[in-house]
Amino acid sequence: MVEKILDINDLTVTFETDEGVFNAVDHVSFDIGKGEIVGLVGESGCGKTVTALSITRLIPSPPGRIASGKILFKGEDLLQLGIKEMRRIRGRKISMIFQEPSAALSPLHRIGNQMVETIRMHQKISKKKAWKLSEEWLGKVGIPDAKERMFALPYQLSGGMQQRVMISMAMMTEPDLLIADEPTTALDVTIQMQIFELIRAMKNKEVSILIITHDMGVIWEMCDRVVVMYASEIVEEGRRNDIFSTPAHPYTKGLLNSIPKLGCSGKRLKAVAGYVPSPYNYPTGCHFYDRCEFAFKRCKEEKPVLKDIGKNRKAACFLL
Ligand code: SF4
Repeated sequence: MVEKILDINDLTVTFETDEGVFNAVDHVSFDIGKGEIVGLVGESGCGKTVTALSITRLIPSPPGRIASGKILFKGEDLLQLGIKEMRRIRGRKISMIFQEPSAALSPLHRIGNQMVETIRMHQKISKKKAWKLSEEWLGKVGIPDAKERMFALPYQLSGGMQQRVMISMAMMTEPDLLIADEPTTALDVTIQMQIFELIRAMKNKEVSILIITHDMGVIWEMCDRVVVMYASEIVEEGRRNDIFSTPAHPYTKGLLNSIPKLGCSGKRLKAVAGYVPSPYNYPTGCHFYDRCEFAFKRCKEEKPVLKDIGKNRKAACFLL
């Protein structure tokens, strides 16, 4: 049996704002094994990033609050740790690539100094060695003239380059768990492939990886297992190949219909009709009710629960 590195159990995250109270993440449970790449997929506003920020305990509070659940990392509940212990784990044992590089880079300090400081915070290593290592990592993520770029301030680099600096900072500390939130959205295809290669190399070293994305193409390229989230809840979970060959939940089917298929270049892609509902107004029954072409009376009144629908497969739909 594969050792579980992360085990999220019944996590609920609540936000209290002037407009009201809502659950951004509602009773979510899933796990990640050692050396496994799990993809958390869904449209924007489904609760993926809030789930990731809960793992690293970076939910802005207020207005956010982890209302219930457990987040076990190597058997230890992260939600029970103090700020100091959490800081020790963040960066060294759990690294995160954010959607926005500005969330991770200080605008006032040179790239090289920030990288050296990050490494030395987590490893006993001389400044000289840390500088060399940082330079090597800038090269690995495809930054040209790495030697000179080490002296740049973030604003002197393009958005794509800043993104790559952040990726290298998250990877070079050799964490046990890497959380990558839309890691390659701002990058061109060649660089994207380079980053995917680095992520695969981490997997080969038994690092566990959570990739958060809205893009089923990234899931296909990178992941072993898929967790599909819709409007704060998990609606389907399974091995990548099973999800792609026989998607079960209508939402998963919709996501897959919206990606181009080989040999069908002339065919119009079908996006999921409508929008993710506002969290203040989730339907009472199935959250997908308003957009589902198979919806019937029961779906409006009752909430489907996530249940086993086969070996290593789960889904939440009355039709299954
Ligand atoms: S429970 Fe009903 S509305 Fe929800 S996905 Fe299934 S068929 Fe559609």
